[in-house]
Amino acid sequence: MARIGLIGGLSWESTASYYRYLNEAFHGPSDWSQPEVIVDSIDFGEIVEMQRNDDWAATGKVLAASARRLELAGATVLAICANTMHVNLAEVRDAVDVPIVDVRDAVAHEVLEKGARTLALLGTKYLIEKDFYSSRLESLGVSVVRPNRDETERMQSIIFNELVRGIITTEARDYLLTVAASCRERGAAVVGLCCTEFGLLMGEDEPFAVIDSTKAHVRALLKTIG
Ligand code: GLU
Repeated sequence: MARIGLIGGLSWESTASYYRYLNEAFHGPSDWSQPEVIVDSIDFGEIVEMQRNDDWAATGKVLAASARRLELAGATVLAICANTMHVNLAEVRDAVDVPIVDVRDAVAHEVLEKGARTLALLGTKYLIEKDFYSSRLESLGVSVVRPNRDETERMQSIIFNELVRGIITTEARDYLLTVAASCRERGAAVVGLCCTEFGLLMGEDEPFAVIDSTKAHVRALLKTIG
């Protein structure tokens, strides 16, 4: 029996979205069918501190331990429920024998499926400024348009001071729309919500093409369990 293991708490707000979308998008044999899911919710406070200290070896250990707990509990496929934390995907993969579905691959696949090749990279400062995310997309044929420095800082503040604490405002949504527009003016064919909390502000039904990484990741996970 396929069982999805979620490395969650990155933050809990978006883990709740994963759980909701997995259940909403799942089609099983009966009207009451639901996917089997195990959530390992880690302490985001610890992760934020390590991120600020640029200690990505430490975040890798925390995530690898979470993956091992999920595997021991019987998960047959795993997901890291955050884009940024895919910086540690290699270490997490080394820690377990079960497959891990890469959110970057899920996003790239959907960009190409739309017949597009350029993505506005909206996410944390770490994701925008490091190249672990963009280089994976590029290797799959998708080039990125990055927000500028001010836009990146303001999004970072919206993510860490508002969204992960459940604060959702129209000002934040308007700001994200502005960043999306500026990236589109600079050539992005699709807007990538490459932060698992951005779906709290913007849907995939805007008047321009949007991929919500949380939804794309869920769609890819469900494909793997058939
Ligand atoms: N959930 C976020 C993401 O998708 C940001 C929180 C984090 O840094 O893990 O990148």
